[in-house]
Amino acid sequence: MSRNPYFQDIAGRYLFQELRERKRAFHEKNPDVHLISLSIGDTTEPLPETIRQALAKKAQEMGTDEGYFGYGPEQGIAPLREKIAEVLYHNTIAADDLFVSDGAKCDIGRLQLLFSKRAKVALQDPAYPAYLDTSILHRGKDSIIRLPCTPENNFFPDLTLAKKADFLFICSPNNPTGHIFTFEELEKLVRFAQKEKKIILFDAAYAYYVQEAQGADGKLFPRSIYEIEGADTVAIEIGSFSKMAGFSGVRLGWTVVPEKLRYPTGEPVKQDWLRIITTFYNGASIISQYGGIAALSPVGLKEMKAIVNFYLENAKLLRAAFEDLDFEVYGGIHSPYLWVRQKGKTSWQLFDELLHNAHIQTTPGVGFGTSGEGFLRISSFGRRATIQEAIGRLHAMHAKM
Ligand code: PLP
Repeated sequence: MSRNPYFQDIAGRYLFQELRERKRAFHEKNPDVHLISLSIGDTTEPLPETIRQALAKKAQEMGTDEGYFGYGPEQGIAPLREKIAEVLYHNTIAADDLFVSDGAKCDIGRLQLLFSKRAKVALQDPAYPAYLDTSILHRGKDSIIRLPCTPENNFFPDLTLAKKADFLFICSPNNPTGHIFTFEELEKLVRFAQKEKKIILFDAAYAYYVQEAQGADGKLFPRSIYEIEGADTVAIEIGSFSKMAGFSGVRLGWTVVPEKLRYPTGEPVKQDWLRIITTFYNGASIISQYGGIAALSPVGLKEMKAIVNFYLENAKLLRAAFEDLDFEVYGGIHSPYLWVRQKGKTSWQLFDELLHNAHIQTTPGVGFGTSGEGFLRISSFGRRATIQEAIGRLHAMHAKM
């Protein structure tokens, strides 16, 4: 029996082991201290009424002769696909190009199967760890091309580095940096992919956090890569109900694979994706899918917006607090994440300072890639009282320094 050798190459786990270890050591020395976590990338607010009722109703109906449902269509039920296409894409993409899934992360793993064992993949650095880990597990670490995205390049990668890549993972609004691409930047990416024959895997898990307000340059920001003309010839888009509707435990997402998308060798990608999803899973939970339809109803949309705005208000409060402490602060406007640093300090130094002096746990930026060194990721997912207590502790720490 031979084990997949690439398990050895997955280094990411080190960060989280180290994080647990430092937290354990802290608790051992300070058993009475209650730590606040600004580390977790998960939603905290309860499901809103309309969604909760729809989930409960479908669960009840499953207990009746008329309402029972077995395997559904693998691509997802038509009313949900039509609703996503209409409400989130204003029918600029076809419901038939949309594949409902059990979550964005699951699709990130499955999408790897589209590409050959020899393919090279370019990743933003820092990046959401699933892109790196699933890429390594399929092709080993030598298949990875890192694209540094830091304040020094305004978080936009040098695309010449991606010339040898076959496909690119791009995430906007970004986890972990909270940075959002402008229309011009996304257009640059799409033109690059068209010219150099690359496929973009665009992760729009935080699209619902993009604000309607004017950006600093007077432009609105894109929520979908398909807002760029011609993107349907080069891009797959991954979406999720997790951060939009609090479905991280319910599980629901989707992937758009446009009819027009071709590999550089000319074959259509969509038929392969259909083959993958019919082979690897039997569709998303039917109960979740009814919850998704309710989330996209007019009342559901209002309820989701209220929760997203609540997290964004947390982010605003945290931004102000970190600015008061003389941190450089990025993100947190179109994203629930802040990306902060104090020049001259490493990620782990900052992590330890906040852990020991403010009793706040954060995530060291270096865990998301070497270009994350020197940063912390601050999550604004949390109850308001917790966020306010964290801010109070930050100010108290500052006053003592
Ligand atoms: N993509 C990004 C960028 C994320 O941050 C996350 C979750 O944190 C996911 C995807 C996973 O989404 P899902 O819960 O739909 O699997």
